[in-house]
Amino acid sequence: MNQSQKLFQRAQKHIPGGVNSPVRAFRAVGGTPRFIEKGKGAYLWDVDGKRYLDFVMSWGPLILGHADPKMVRAVSNQVKKGTSFGAPTANEVKLAELIKSAFPSIDKVRLVSSGTEAVMSAVRLSRGATGRKKVIKFDGCYHGHVDSLLVRAGSGAATFGIPDSKGVPEELAQHTISIPYNDSGALEKILAKQGSQVACLIVEPIPANMGVVWPKAGFLKRIRTLTKKHRIILIFDEVITGFRLAFGGAQEFFGIEADLTCLGKILGGGLPIGAFGGKKEIMNHLSPLGGVYQAGTLSGNPMATAAGIETLKQLKGRRFYRDLQNKCDYFYALIHSELKKHSFPVTFNHVGSLFTLFFTPQAVTDFRSAKRSDTDRYARFFHALLNSGIYFAPSQFEANFISHAHSILDLTRAAKFISKTLSRLL
Ligand code: PMP
Repeated sequence: MNQSQKLFQRAQKHIPGGVNSPVRAFRAVGGTPRFIEKGKGAYLWDVDGKRYLDFVMSWGPLILGHADPKMVRAVSNQVKKGTSFGAPTANEVKLAELIKSAFPSIDKVRLVSSGTEAVMSAVRLSRGATGRKKVIKFDGCYHGHVDSLLVRAGSGAATFGIPDSKGVPEELAQHTISIPYNDSGALEKILAKQGSQVACLIVEPIPANMGVVWPKAGFLKRIRTLTKKHRIILIFDEVITGFRLAFGGAQEFFGIEADLTCLGKILGGGLPIGAFGGKKEIMNHLSPLGGVYQAGTLSGNPMATAAGIETLKQLKGRRFYRDLQNKCDYFYALIHSELKKHSFPVTFNHVGSLFTLFFTPQAVTDFRSAKRSDTDRYARFFHALLNSGIYFAPSQFEANFISHAHSILDLTRAAKFISKTLSRLL
């Protein structure tokens, strides 16, 4: 038995499923999760000393790669000064200013400790600000494990076939309306009947939690127009897309402004953080200014803000996104040419530095089409890559992430292994 297997046995005695977040348990692909010892750049090392080229990158936060030296310095310097004060700090103001420089739609922003918390707070704020109860979301989008949003949810919820979580009272779930992504007709119908009861519509502008899916041309603009018409707060959940598709996230990428924006992941460079922000008319409803309560012992944590400031400073460099995109385009072109050459029955969706290989030959445009994928084949593909030292998402219904630290050499090697593995499997 290797060290990961031993640790996993021990872990299962003490931690439900042996993990602190379900997808980590490898249930969707089988086998033993690798326990990780360290990361550097684009690589991970497990406790048995095996090295992996990492395409999970902590599920998104590590756009600079593991243990970026400047990040390490920024966080170490802060640790020496103290880890938490429960009082305001200059870095919270700095980070808020940086966030606002990225997202012109944000007048005011509040920091929290996770993406889930950001979304949960944004939904409560929307309800408080509008006096309405209903929330609209899209099938297969994941917005954290917020009670009202675990309705036809993506990510781990989709992976384990429990998109509607137990423990969410029907009285709460009934206020959530979930409709197919990319279906503006369905949205129009709902709004015609119930528009005046809807507090907010929340969307992953590029869904990445049913695997990566593109919005159809005009879909996001239509959502913007319809929410305005019905005076519904439009929440862009940019926990993944924020600072990834562009410095200003999907809003910059598509030229659309949300009323509220949820952020996380890259914002803390791998330390626990989240944020939600938007128009001041809405944000001023928050306590202590208004009647919507929201708080956090570790909100605006000094290490997380130090990491966030350092990350955003590096991303703000003019060339960052262009360089990353060039690398990704090179990788995508290699994969596309291999898929075409061998006529592999696989659909390759990608945008920016996010990508998913769906094991279905049909286009994937929503949750229904994503679910046509052959998940058993994906599991075999995943393990073949893992054995070759390439760490992909341990589920078909997730995005893979490319970072600044992935070199052209890394990506060339990965593309070769991917093609070789597909040849063997298909
Ligand atoms: N929203 C989106 C779009 C996400 O992808 C995630 C997490 N993957 C969340 C919210 C929840 O963030 P966290 O896991 O930090 O609570």
